[in-house]
Amino acid sequence: MRNRLADIQSNLEKINSRISEACSRSKRNISEITLIAVTKTYPASEVDLLKQLGIENVGENKDQEASGKISQVKEKFSWHFIGQLQSNKAKSVVTYAELVHSVDRLSLAKELQKSANAIAKKQKVLIQVDLDQSDPDRSRGGVWPADLAALAQFISQSENLELAGLMSVAPLGENPSEAFERLAQIRSDFLKNYPNAVILSAGMSEDLEAAIEHGATHLRIGSALLGERPKIG
Ligand SMILES: *Cc1c(COP(=O)(O)O)cnc(C)c1O
Repeated sequence: MRNRLADIQSNLEKINSRISEACSRSKRNISEITLIAVTKTYPASEVDLLKQLGIENVGENKDQEASGKISQVKEKFSWHFIGQLQSNKAKSVVTYAELVHSVDRLSLAKELQKSANAIAKKQKVLIQVDLDQSDPDRSRGGVWPADLAALAQFISQSENLELAGLMSVAPLGENPSEAFERLAQIRSDFLKNYPNAVILSAGMSEDLEAAIEHGATHLRIGSALLGERPKIG
């Protein structure tokens, strides 16, 4: 475990220097950036190690894995739900998620509203925007930019939901900087209507620099921190 901790620490130092270089290039303050450690496929014991490195925010992309792991994790963290979410999992996710990043349709927003209401919670959510213009079946989730306004309006009028910002994943096979530039434009229009919804969750291990350049406030970092995940499914 000692060595594992040292390895993760050295990965974290590399990530932090990438973040600080990207921030100085874009004239942004490091304090604007929140690092979310994506712990999918890694056991609860490894999540607990992250606490020793000062990490407070962790992300999971599957409800079943997340809820099992949370019951085993000993340290306290803010949990982020970042994966595609089936409406029937909303009830479980609201019990532990500080922030749900992946709201991409009305039916899911309705379920989250209902589930948050049932436990008297105000659930913070982000709308996931699909930047992939060549993705007709929306395989990676996200709302089409054209449908963003209607979804944002519904969420902002939902008693138990707080619209906190936007999230996106850079499309495969496209320069992330070009995709995040489109995202920044979408966000700047969105902020005119929702000036308090300032979170922008964008940037993963491979593209955090491009995300910071285009305004990301929350980075979701898995493999650069914890190592390559075994390929499953
Ligand atoms: C797995 C995952 C990440 C982290 O990806 P890495 O490339 O390992 O940093 C970020 N966002 C989402 C939605 C993910 O599913």
